[in-house]
Amino acid sequence: MRLDLKVGFTCNNLCTFCVQGDKRVRIQPRSAEEMKQILEEERKNTDEVVFTGGEPTVHKDLLNVIAFAKSLGYRVIQLQTNGRRLSHEPYLEAAVRAGVTQISPSLHGSTAEIHELQTRAPGSFKQTIKGIQASRRRGIMVITNSVVTQQNQTDLPALARLLVSLEVQQIQFAFVHPEGTALREFESVVPRFTEVMPYLREALDIVEAAGITAFAEAVPYCFMQGHEHHVVESVIPDTRIHDKPMVIADYTAYRLAEGKAKGPRCKSCSFDPYCEGPWHEYPDGYGWEEFVPRTDDPKLVLPFFTKSKGQ
Ligand code: SF4
Repeated sequence: MRLDLKVGFTCNNLCTFCVQGDKRVRIQPRSAEEMKQILEEERKNTDEVVFTGGEPTVHKDLLNVIAFAKSLGYRVIQLQTNGRRLSHEPYLEAAVRAGVTQISPSLHGSTAEIHELQTRAPGSFKQTIKGIQASRRRGIMVITNSVVTQQNQTDLPALARLLVSLEVQQIQFAFVHPEGTALREFESVVPRFTEVMPYLREALDIVEAAGITAFAEAVPYCFMQGHEHHVVESVIPDTRIHDKPMVIADYTAYRLAEGKAKGPRCKSCSFDPYCEGPWHEYPDGYGWEEFVPRTDDPKLVLPFFTKSKGQ
């Protein structure tokens, strides 16, 4: 089990695809005491924690709380961040000294123009790149995430090449989750799977050819022929999310019961037992026509550890 701890929803970017939407102004950040209490309670269940948000590095008590997590014996301490603050090397150094063991920064375009069209934060591209470079120089494991949108879909191969050149350890392309701001801006932000896939396949191939682990998130198997081993849902660990105001006790169960959806033709698909389907907002907006059931044998192409959803 892994703990996902949301420190608050304040952020120094203003992304067009942000799933948190107006939580950034509606919900107050957690206090250090509240976070420490959660860390103490959850330590009996796990020694892995991900600090996320919003943008965790804008929380004034973050490093103090990370140091507390380290003192409790958390073995994996991941910082999920837009990476901007890590460009300031004294802050990065303080984060590593406090206990951060992995950085998960997000980059959404191969150029400032494409990245900042989405983050709506001038200068954010340069800072995120510097943050990634500084983290790698410091020897920290870097696991990147890039949200796939209409604005960057044709740029994905160039983005993959840039991330490979930065020598990060793992690269994930996450199909935009149409929630929050992304739901409000659905028609201008959410791409069509059938239009994205040639570029996403090329990007995954570029990363794999460089010997770097590559994943795609929230892309059903009917779009991933030949790329099934990149489906991240087969390896996402059991996760408990301390969101605010609620706790999601089992993130996998939540995705299956509430987050994702299956279409009218999915029952006839040979991958149905293994597939989570898309985020439900996608077919709510674009329908199910693009989802063509597969008829080939999943056992011949899925990694051996892939469980069916009933297991
Ligand atoms: S079960 Fe449905 S969404 Fe999943 S791969 Fe098959 S057709 Fe696509």
